This record gives sequence, C-alpha cells and structure tokens, in this order.
Amino acid sequence: MRLSRYFLPILKENPKEAEIISHRLMLRAGMVRQHSQGIYSWLPLGKRVLDKVNRIIREEQDRSGAVELLMPTMQSADLWIESGRYEAYGKEMLRITDRQERAMLFGPTNEEMITEIFRSSVKSYKQLPLNLYHIQWKFRDEIRPRFGTMRSREFMMKDAYSFDLTLEAAEHSYRKMFAAYLRTFDRLGLRAIPMRADTGPIGGNLSHEFIILAETGESEVFCHRDFVKFDIPPADLDFDSVDALKGIFDQWTSVYAATDEMHDAAAFDALPEGERLSARGIEVGHIFYFGTKYSEPMGAKVQGPDGKEHPVHMGSYGIGPTRLVPAIIEASHDDNGIIWPDSVAPFDAVVINMKAGDASCDGVSDRFYAALQSAGLDVLYDDTDERAGGKFATADLIGVPQQIVVGPRGVANGEVELKDRKSGARDTMTVEAAIAKLTNGR
Ligand code: ATP
Ligand code: MG
Repeated sequence: MRLSRYFLPILKENPKEAEIISHRLMLRAGMVRQHSQGIYSWLPLGKRVLDKVNRIIREEQDRSGAVELLMPTMQSADLWIESGRYEAYGKEMLRITDRQERAMLFGPTNEEMITEIFRSSVKSYKQLPLNLYHIQWKFRDEIRPRFGTMRSREFMMKDAYSFDLTLEAAEHSYRKMFAAYLRTFDRLGLRAIPMRADTGPIGGNLSHEFIILAETGESEVFCHRDFVKFDIPPADLDFDSVDALKGIFDQWTSVYAATDEMHDAAAFDALPEGERLSARGIEVGHIFYFGTKYSEPMGAKVQGPDGKEHPVHMGSYGIGPTRLVPAIIEASHDDNGIIWPDSVAPFDAVVINMKAGDASCDGVSDRFYAALQSAGLDVLYDDTDERAGGKFATADLIGVPQQIVVGPRGVANGEVELKDRKSGARDTMTVEAAIAKLTNGR
C-alpha cells in the first residue's frame, strides 16, 4: 500500500476525550473514529488489525471443531419472549419497531436465535456434538460506554454455542473452548488468565472469564502468580481426546484465580504473600455452561440412544475482537506509539523513502516494495514528501514491526537501514541482505 494513496488520518495532538492510552493511540493512529457515543467506524488501519484478530479467532475456533455461520444483527422479539428474556434484559437492549409495528431488536447476543436454528433441524443425538459460531456486531446500550472500543455500545463479538446430549459431553465441549481460547489469546501476543466467574442460578464451576492484566482494566482480579508458568496447548492438540483436554483444564484451574464477584478473600489470603497477585484486568473472553436454560423453554430436544427426547445441554462462548484491539495496545506500546505483535500488525513492514522524487531512492524503495509484496508480506510504502522526522514518527506511532529506511547516503553505498520497532535495534546492510532477511522463510 502506497501511503500517498492510503487513508491514514493521523492526529498530531493528543485527543482530549481519550482517558486511556489505547484509546488515545487508536485515535492518533487513525484506526477508529467515533460516530456517536459508543459507536465507532473502523478506519482502514484499524480494519486491518481487526481482520487479523478475527482471522486468528476463526482459525482457532475451526481447529477446535466449531463451525462458522452468520446470523443477522436484527432479531425479532418473539424468540426472546419465548425464552423469557425479553423483559429481563432491560434497558441494555435496543428495541426497535418496524413499519408493521412488529417488535424487533438489535441483538445483544444470540442464544435464542441459535437455539431456534438448532431445534428446527437437529433431531437426533447422532448429530451431536455441535458447536456453531459467528463473528458479528452486537449492540448493548451500555450505561457507561467508555475507553473507545474497549466498552462501546456497538461492538463485535465472536459467539459460539455448543449443543450436547449429556452434561459430561457438554463439559468436554466447554474444555475445547477453554483450550481454543488459551491458544487464541497466546497467538494475539497476550497472556490471558482464565478466572472463575459467576455462574448465576445455574451454579457449578463452569464459567470462566479470560482476563488480561492491565492497570486500566475495569475489573479487580485476584490470582496466583503461577499462571505464567503453564503451557499453551499445542497446535496439534487432539480436541477429541477427553484426557488431553481435561489435563489442560485441570492444570490451568489448579491455582487460585477469581474475578471480583467470585473472590474468596479467606482462601486467597491464605496463600503465601509472594504468590498472591491482585491486580486490575480486562475481560476479553467469557465461556459459560448453562445447561438446559434455553433448550427447555424453547423445546430444543434431540432423541437419545434410549429413544426418548432430551433437552440439549448448551454452553456459550464469547470473545470481543473490538475490545481485544485496544487490550493488545494496553499491553504493548511505548512513548512513541503502538508496538504490534507480528501476528496482528496492520503491516508487516514499512518502506520509508527518505527522499521521494530522488531517482536512486525511488528505485531502491520500489524494489523493496515489490520484493516484499511478492514474498507475501503486507507492506506499507511511505512514498510521501513529508520530512524524515514525520515519517519515522508515523511508522512508530502505527507500530509497524519492521522498518526499512531508504536514504540518499545509504543508497549511494548500496545500503539501507533496518529498524526493529520492538527493540529499537538498527542495522545497516546491503539492499540484497535486507530483502533476504525480511523475506526469510517466506
Ligand atoms: P462486561 O462484563 O465487560 O460488560 P459481559 O460479561 O457483559 O462484559 P459477555 O456477554 O460475556 O460480556 O460478552 C463476551 C465478550 O464480549 C466479553 O468478554 C467482551 O470481550 C466482549 N464485550 C462485551 N461487552 C462489550 C462492550 N460493551 N464493548 C466491547 N466488547 C464487549
Ligand atoms: Mg462476561
């Protein structure tokens, strides 16, 4: 992408409305723009990151055996009346009336709709287990939207829903998502801690919130320091292996970790001082087993091996991609801007032409741009006539991991400078060596 033809509305000043660093940096880097309270447009740079986050989420859902579909944002109130949640949901639900005076709503979540899809076509236990997910916009009329897309009214969610014949099978489905989430957040460069969360009237211990520790987090959390030592499940994990998944689940839930609502001060305080960690956290995911809460009232039943009809056991599993983007920034930035993990960087590399219009600088920059692109890298080419300082500041602000500086002096010697955004290390090398280094393994 040539910067001269891109849309990157960088802000020079710090936006006053932004209270936390990620919101400030997302506005400054031209990633999002607020339309009205808690409603944002994702500008091209932000959209690139969001797409990469969603791709990782999708790959890990698919790996675990979940199946993607896409449900609409607009829902009819009927199903919610059936499940008994239409009144209970309260003011967070945006209620809309269509031209035929029918009660509609902008979906805050999709349990009802997926249960309806399920009951209309699945009739036998032989079609189970089943886990269906989508990545779709949600709307919740939050009382206090804030911190940019961290807590917005319109936001994106990956929500998955599992269906099983028995509690045991449902537990296995739950652990699949548990393992998939550990992998997902790890690939996003985050260490998310699964913490016991409130299960409400259902009880049991099958609800976990995945929390990233951050000073600006909205929740207060308590955990054991050991969580950093646990291994992330491998890519070739056998998701059908009950034992393998139980092993992962048991290890990760073997030490104390609870959100505010579930906190047991006595148990926590009994831990040695050096093992206790109380901090603030950002909830990036939430998994939940809720049994037959929807299948019973909505009649989602399958025939079991005994020939009888059984309401299915369900779970739901959410991740917030539009919250994850700022959460990643909270975890990874410096005074100059964002430091993207490679996996979600909007561009893998930026070619900074220090003297656009100069034949030799243009020549070398063009060559880089072409070579990196054909190696499959996402490349930004700063071909603008801005001064060098401004170009460096932009590259750092938007957090491009690899920066190639093409200047007249270096080019005269056949050399360029490579800068690593994360470490700040700079290396001068020949054009050939730089291309080889950046395309290595591609
Ligand atoms: P919170 O406690 O933060 O209000 P929640 O418990 O209501 O969230 P869930 O219903 O569990 O959220 O939604 C699943 C995921 O969707 C959350 O873990 C979070 O990542 C994301 N999410 C929820 N609400 C918002 C929001 N207002 N803005 C952005 N992301 C959100
Ligand atoms: Mg939650």
